[in-house]
Amino acid sequence: MNIFEASKKGRHGVKLPKSRVKSTPNLPKNLQRSEDAKLPELSELDVVRHFTRLSSKNFSIDKNFYPLGSCTMKYNPKIEEKVASLEQFLNAHPWSMLNDEFTKDIQGLLEIVDISKNLLCEITGMDAFTLMPQAGAHGEMTGIMLIHAYHQNKGNKKRYVIVPDSSHGTNPATASMVGYEVITIKSDEEGVMNLQEFKKAMNDEVAAVMLTVPNTLGIFNPYIKEVCDIAHSHDALMYYDGANLNAILGVVRPGDLGFDVTHLNLHKTFATPHGGGGPGSGPVGVKEFLKPFLPNLQVTKDEKGYKIAKPNELSIGRISPFFGNYMVTLRALAYILILGKEGLKNVSKKAVLNANYIRVKLKEFYDLPYDKPCMHECVLSAKTLAKEHGVRALDIAKYLLDFGLHAPTIYFPLIVKEAMMIEPTETESKESIDFFCKKMIDAVDLAKSDPKSFAKLPKSTPVSRPDETKAARELDICFK
Ligand SMILES: *Cc1c(COP(=O)(O)O)cnc(C)c1O
Repeated sequence: MNIFEASKKGRHGVKLPKSRVKSTPNLPKNLQRSEDAKLPELSELDVVRHFTRLSSKNFSIDKNFYPLGSCTMKYNPKIEEKVASLEQFLNAHPWSMLNDEFTKDIQGLLEIVDISKNLLCEITGMDAFTLMPQAGAHGEMTGIMLIHAYHQNKGNKKRYVIVPDSSHGTNPATASMVGYEVITIKSDEEGVMNLQEFKKAMNDEVAAVMLTVPNTLGIFNPYIKEVCDIAHSHDALMYYDGANLNAILGVVRPGDLGFDVTHLNLHKTFATPHGGGGPGSGPVGVKEFLKPFLPNLQVTKDEKGYKIAKPNELSIGRISPFFGNYMVTLRALAYILILGKEGLKNVSKKAVLNANYIRVKLKEFYDLPYDKPCMHECVLSAKTLAKEHGVRALDIAKYLLDFGLHAPTIYFPLIVKEAMMIEPTETESKESIDFFCKKMIDAVDLAKSDPKSFAKLPKSTPVSRPDETKAARELDICFK
C-alpha cells in the first residue's frame, strides 16, 4: 500500500501552530492556493513504518551480496562515513575556498585536497590530479578535453579516438562528445584488443587511445606497452579508464605502463556508497606535460601555507564547482590511509582471488568464453542454457533475486552472448561466495528440470518482471 492509499482524513503526525500570516497581498492571484493541497494524512507511526518498510526493500551492499560486474559494489566501511560527516568539514563554506582572505581558515581542507592528490599520484604513477570531476564519465570527458587541449596547443590535426569493442559505453560517448570520431577495434580470441587490427587503424590523426585495464572481460592486456609505444609514435595520447582499479591497487600503475591520462572512480574502488546515482567522484590524473591544461582551482603551498593557485591560461577551465564532491574525496582519503600500502595491495589480491574462485567453481555449469585466469571480475555466459533449455542470462538474474542475491551485470560486455559479469569484490566471505555459487548451480539444475518455472520469477520483489525497455525509456516512478 502506498502512502496516499493509507491516508485517513483527519489523522496527523504533527500539530502546527496557527499561521500568523493574515494574507499574502504580494502574491499574484493565480499563484495563490484556492483549496487545500492534497497531502496524505497519516500519523507519525504510519510514516515511519512506510519508509522503514520501503528502505528494507532496497537492495544494498549492507544487506546483500552484490556481484554487479564493473560496478565494484564493495562494502563501504562505516568509519569513512564518520569522517565525511565530521562537523568541521560539513560546516566549511565552499566560497571560503575561492577567496584568498579566507584560505587561512581552511588550511586543513586544502591540505586534504593536497594529500589526496599526492596519494592518488602515488597509486597511479601520475604526476598531477584534479579532484573536480563528479563521476567516472565526467572524468573521462575531462581527460579527453585535456588531450584535446594538448593537441590544439601543439597545432596537431586530430580526428579520431580509438576504443576496443569491449569498452564501457561511456568511452565512445565521451570521445564523440568532445568532438572526435570513434574507431572501434575488435577483441581477439584472448579477449583483448586485437593488436594487428589496432596497428592497421593507427594513424597520425588519432588523438587518443582509450583502454580499460583490466578490461570489461576482467582480462589484463599483455600488449599494453606495445600499444602505448605505437600510439605515442603518432603523438596520440594513452587514456586509462581506471574506473575499475580494484584489480591492480599497489600492483601495477597506469603511469608506469605508459598511460598519459587516467580517471579513477573513487565511488567504486575507494569506498563511497553508490548505485543510487551519486554523489560520485572521478578524479583525473595526468603526466607532467599535461599539467598546464588541468582545470583551474589547483591548490599550491608557499611559506604562508596552502592557497589557490592563479588560473592557468592553457587550462580547460572549470568543469565543476569548487573541488567536486569533497566528501567523496574525504572518504577515499580515509580509506587509503586506514588500509595503507599493504592493505591496498591486499584488497586487489583478494578481489582477484574471489573472482577466480567463482570462475573455476562455475565453469563446468556455464559457458566461459575466455578460459584463463581473470582479474577482479569474470564473465560467464548462459549461451548453452539458452539454446538447450530456453533459459537466458536474464532468467538466471531473476532467479537469484529471491535468495537475497543481487544479479550479476548481464548482457555486458556486448561482445559476449548471454553475458553474466560477476564481480564479487574483496569484502565477501567464502561463505557468502559459496552460497552465491550454489544458487548459480541450482539455477542450472532448475533450467534442466523445469525451465518454464523461470517465467514466474522473482516472486519476492514488489515488481516481478517489468518491461525493461519501457521502464528505461519512459521512467515513471509516480505512484498513480
Ligand atoms: C563505471 C564505469 C564507468 C563510468 O563511471 P560513472 O561513475 O558511472 O560515470 C566508466 N568506465 C568503466 C569501465 C566503468 O566500470
